[in-house]
Amino acid sequence: MRRGRSTATCLALAVLALSGRVLFADPLRYEFSEPHMGTLVRIVVYASDPGSAARAASAAFARVASLDAAFSDYRDDSELMALCRRAGEGPVPVSLDTFELLTRAAEISHRAGGAFDVTVGPAVQLWRRARRTRSLPDPERIAAARALVGHEHVRLDEASRTVRLAKSGMRLDLGGIAKGYAAQEATRVLTEAGIARSLVAAGGDIVVTAPPPGARGWTVAVAPVEAASGVAPLSLRDAAVSTSGGAEQFAEIGGVRYAHIVDPRTARAIEGSRQVTVVARDGATADGLATATVVLGEEGLAVVDATPGAAAILFIESPGGVRRLESRNWAALTSTGAVP
Ligand code: ADP
Ligand code: MG
Repeated sequence: MRRGRSTATCLALAVLALSGRVLFADPLRYEFSEPHMGTLVRIVVYASDPGSAARAASAAFARVASLDAAFSDYRDDSELMALCRRAGEGPVPVSLDTFELLTRAAEISHRAGGAFDVTVGPAVQLWRRARRTRSLPDPERIAAARALVGHEHVRLDEASRTVRLAKSGMRLDLGGIAKGYAAQEATRVLTEAGIARSLVAAGGDIVVTAPPPGARGWTVAVAPVEAASGVAPLSLRDAAVSTSGGAEQFAEIGGVRYAHIVDPRTARAIEGSRQVTVVARDGATADGLATATVVLGEEGLAVVDATPGAAAILFIESPGGVRRLESRNWAALTSTGAVP
């Protein structure tokens, strides 16, 4: 009897081992892309079959689309624009997503001493027009925009999940954080669908989980300004990486280059060419800190250093050439693949 049972056990084990080869075979790579949030969102997953890969990706894209509908400042019907129309009035009830994103934005504003600020809307609008017409905004208009900027004018009340914009005329702009946040949310949806190995890229905002089978990490290039051409690609897992600045996003007016990023403390566009790549533990933090570091320049690296799990590389272009600056943990990140 005993003997018979153990033979059966052995057989069962052999069958298990055989089917295990099929069940636990390396998953295959599937790639999807869709336009959202004014950019191309790319999703790469490893999955056991094409059907589960496609289902997970389409759920992730649907999540991004719903965040886009809420956060867009190009759509009059977005929740964000409805909130802005009530600036200067009382508290406005908002969705969980909007409340959560504004809470994250406030944290990053504090961290960055106000260099990141989603209330930059009026100043961004002014400089967008300047870039289009190639003429600088009037100083009075810059001063008027400045008076409407300040993260302290956004009052968040968690208990009633309401937001009050304290000054009439305020306009929120989530362009500096929404893509990173959305990439993180898309990643969460993929993970919940059982996908352990994924990369989500919303333009220059990327979130990765466990690496491809057999790899140490996901290979992510530090965006190619000429000056960055000598920078080895990163190998990352369970991290977010965002790039801000870069030559293609500048407009030249009267011989000066103006970025699409505004200093909230002056309501003036950042002058000169700066590009920064930030690695952090989540997409919103990487995205927000990248924008803040374009504003702060070298000082921004100290903000990155004070953020757990974060590291950054910054390129500042001047007539004398390009300065390359790294946060304290950048070297460790590139050699070990993780921020200590
Ligand atoms: P990109 O949009 O190219 O990915 P960023 O993440 O740096 O680059 O976001 C830039 C956008 O953020 C601008 O187009 C504008 O909408 C908004 N923005 C500009 N300046 C600031 C700032 N100081 N703080 C927060 N958001 C900003
Ligand atoms: Mg950003």
